[in-house]
Amino acid sequence: MILDKEQGQQDELVERIGLECPYCGVYAHMSPQSVPNPASLLRDRPARVGLVYQCDSCNAPVFLRFAVKSYTDNRVELYRNFVELERPKERFAFSYLPKHTEVLFREALACYSGNHFNAFASMCRRAAMSAYDELGEGGKLRAFEEAMVAQDIAGIDDKTFAPIKRVLFDSGEEEDLPLLNGVQAGILLEVLKDIFYQCFVRRGKLTRALKVRRFFVEERTGTLQSTA
Ligand SMILES: [Zn+2]
Repeated sequence: MILDKEQGQQDELVERIGLECPYCGVYAHMSPQSVPNPASLLRDRPARVGLVYQCDSCNAPVFLRFAVKSYTDNRVELYRNFVELERPKERFAFSYLPKHTEVLFREALACYSGNHFNAFASMCRRAAMSAYDELGEGGKLRAFEEAMVAQDIAGIDDKTFAPIKRVLFDSGEEEDLPLLNGVQAGILLEVLKDIFYQCFVRRGKLTRALKVRRFFVEERTGTLQSTA
């Protein structure tokens, strides 16, 4: 990507990019909205520059940082890859979780979105412990069985799954947690979401749906009786 001092409208030179928007969550085109002035870049020669794009789907501003590849007489060349300063938030049907678990799991997901994978693992441990307490007698065992099913369905091998299991089910102290990289954190995220889904969300949704069905049946029966 090139910024050129001689060219007037820089945002017409900068290409649009496709990205998952941190605001609306849509994978959308982003159009350049605010592009730094090449003359001042050529004067100060920063190693990294920031550009603001606008999401084509929701018009929100999206901040990206690019590393500079080279400075020449009139031109600034940027590397094509960039750092997203705001990452899309991880979503979950939080309202079905017990309050305590919800607070901890929200913070876990915030750590994940910020690429703090070990803070994420620690918060997953706390969220999981709180969930086992809420599930009561046998709760941890039930969650463990759900995790085993998830491993099987997703075809995750034992070696990859071992650190995930340690985070969620070991009874050791928090300082004994294994260090996770981004890939392992991603697996932990999906497995814990699945456990919470099976243990809380599924039951909550089903109970709510049945309540609604019963309500309409009773309404209808009530109407029939009153017209009879
Ligand atoms: Zn958007």
